[in-house]
Amino acid sequence: MNHWSILYRGLLSSCNYGCTYCPFAKTKNTRAELADDAQRLQNFVQWVKGRSEQISILFTPWGEGLIRKYYQEAMTELSHLPHVKKVSIQTNLSCTTNWMDAVHRDSFALWTTFHPTQISLEKFVNKCKQLDALNIQYSVGFVAFKEDIDILERLRASINPNRYVWANAYKRIPNYYTEEDILRIERTDPLFRYNTMHHQSLGKSCQAGYTSFTVDGNGDVRSCHFIDTVLGNIYTHEIRDCLTPKSCINATCGCHIGYVHLDELNLYHTYADGILERIPSTYRE
Ligand code: SF4
Ligand code: SF4
Repeated sequence: MNHWSILYRGLLSSCNYGCTYCPFAKTKNTRAELADDAQRLQNFVQWVKGRSEQISILFTPWGEGLIRKYYQEAMTELSHLPHVKKVSIQTNLSCTTNWMDAVHRDSFALWTTFHPTQISLEKFVNKCKQLDALNIQYSVGFVAFKEDIDILERLRASINPNRYVWANAYKRIPNYYTEEDILRIERTDPLFRYNTMHHQSLGKSCQAGYTSFTVDGNGDVRSCHFIDTVLGNIYTHEIRDCLTPKSCINATCGCHIGYVHLDELNLYHTYADGILERIPSTYRE
């Protein structure tokens, strides 16, 4: 039976946080835009319900989805479908957590990001403890600017040791990190080095466009978030016919949500079924 990893990004483009570097900081969608996003998300849920493949889903919204009840309800519903192996979302974890009591624990997980300028470490760690109490799987991390490495270490020290703490590399300045910095960050995130580079991907075999693909709010399917070519539409095509083994057409791939699907890195083995929520198999509780 086929297994698909699907990254869904709908129309939502707003966030309750105000990170200075982010285009969605403190932005709002109108009521009509949110209703439209909710309807399209529900269309996607209905499509998933009708499939026979095994499906894992990562929501990668522009902004924050989990402060919206319709996202909470969609994820809860998806987590209970027998053929949905995983439903996850990238979130700042500012939402309440009590609704998660209704999710199916084996197939629900969170990719959480700590934003040191928006919430205190203590408050964020308390939220993580709520997830622990609810027995929710999650990873946690943030961009490791050099001046924030000590915060990363404090985060690591404060979080349940069985949870994976990842660090994203700041890559806009070439050679930003010294080898000493990398070795230090690897004591928190043993997989950090993968994230420090733009992996040479041109012509290399990648699961994107074959067993992994993205879906947008219109139902359009693309190989990944980094290639614009539309392969088909889940509502108007039999999408299985549009998915074939592919080689990357981009020069490089530098984001976890992309390069984990690059065959030569063999990261499916490292993350196993925690690949979408970024939890290596050795960290699963
Ligand atoms: S929490 Fe994420 S989406 Fe929201 S402003 Fe910060 S970086 Fe942007
Ligand atoms: S290597 Fe990255 S950019 Fe290339 S197809 Fe795979 S996910 Fe997309």
